[in-house]
Amino acid sequence: MSELISGKTISMQIKDELRSEVEQLKSRGIEPCLAVILVGEDAASAIYVRNKKKACSDLGIRSVGHDLPDTATQDELENLVQELNDDPAVHGILNQFPLPNGLNETRVIQKISPEKDVDGLHPLNAGMIAMGQPRFVSCTPYGVLQMLKRSNIDTSGKKAVVLGRSNLVGRPIATLLSSKGWDSTVTVCHSRTANLADVTSEADILIAAIGIPQYVTANMVKEGAVVIDVGINSIEDSSKKSGTRLVGDVSFEEVEAKASFITPVPGGVGPMTIAMLMVNTVNAARWQNGLPELQI
Ligand code: NAD
Repeated sequence: MSELISGKTISMQIKDELRSEVEQLKSRGIEPCLAVILVGEDAASAIYVRNKKKACSDLGIRSVGHDLPDTATQDELENLVQELNDDPAVHGILNQFPLPNGLNETRVIQKISPEKDVDGLHPLNAGMIAMGQPRFVSCTPYGVLQMLKRSNIDTSGKKAVVLGRSNLVGRPIATLLSSKGWDSTVTVCHSRTANLADVTSEADILIAAIGIPQYVTANMVKEGAVVIDVGINSIEDSSKKSGTRLVGDVSFEEVEAKASFITPVPGGVGPMTIAMLMVNTVNAARWQNGLPELQI
């Protein structure tokens, strides 16, 4: 039977640490502030934004919402980003994705000042990760690393297999795990990987970030592996009032019996993502005021 890595518990520890840090900053006249841009009416995005603002208010971080209609133009959106870049009271800027059709995410990502890019998506911040000098690490990869670290999982010299190569999740996790300090030997798998189960079965640490419900089955997992499930997928479940439930990319029940550590869905990587956004926002405020980064 495996040990559960609870993102709920670890994210609460991190938030407790941040709460006192925010108080200290405020006593020095620095109020960390996150600007959150939401364009359009996407229901899931509205929930994510609400949760991010709630996390800010729980920690004493100021959040300022900017809601634009789905008729907003690229210029209007980029002008707003520029205003926030120029506002010294705003330390972090987050644009909730996906954007409505017709708006270009890449251009928005590139418009956000790299110093305020708390989502860690700007090419400069992605490049700094690649060079082994991370500044803002995108929140989900950062959360995964914190789960490994705070569960005392030794990554050095271990074989890590990352399923998924997205810029948001898979690629940065793979780059970070192979970098100095983490020192894993990393294989990245994607939709064209041949003999996937042969590759995953070699993994001491298996990270699933593909977005296919319960895709990773026990036969794909080595006995005693550490399994981190990043996936969040909604599947039909007639036993639920809503008719659906959330599952990860891993078939939890069967893999749990084989793994040494495993993350649940929900309550795993999800809560960590928001906690790390808070860390990035506090660090943004610290750096912009000439202070060193937090030791998290
Ligand atoms: P994405 O669609 O951008 O990327 C999916 C990746 O999986 C691609 O690189 C693709 O090549 C790879 N892939 C697809 N089929 C595969 C297969 N059969 N075998 C191996 N690789 C395959 O998705 P993403 O943004 O990286 O997100 C991945 C999952 O993580 C989704 O379920 C998403 O909802 C979830 N997610 C969770 C959080 C969180 O906070 N927990 C944050 C971001 C994303």
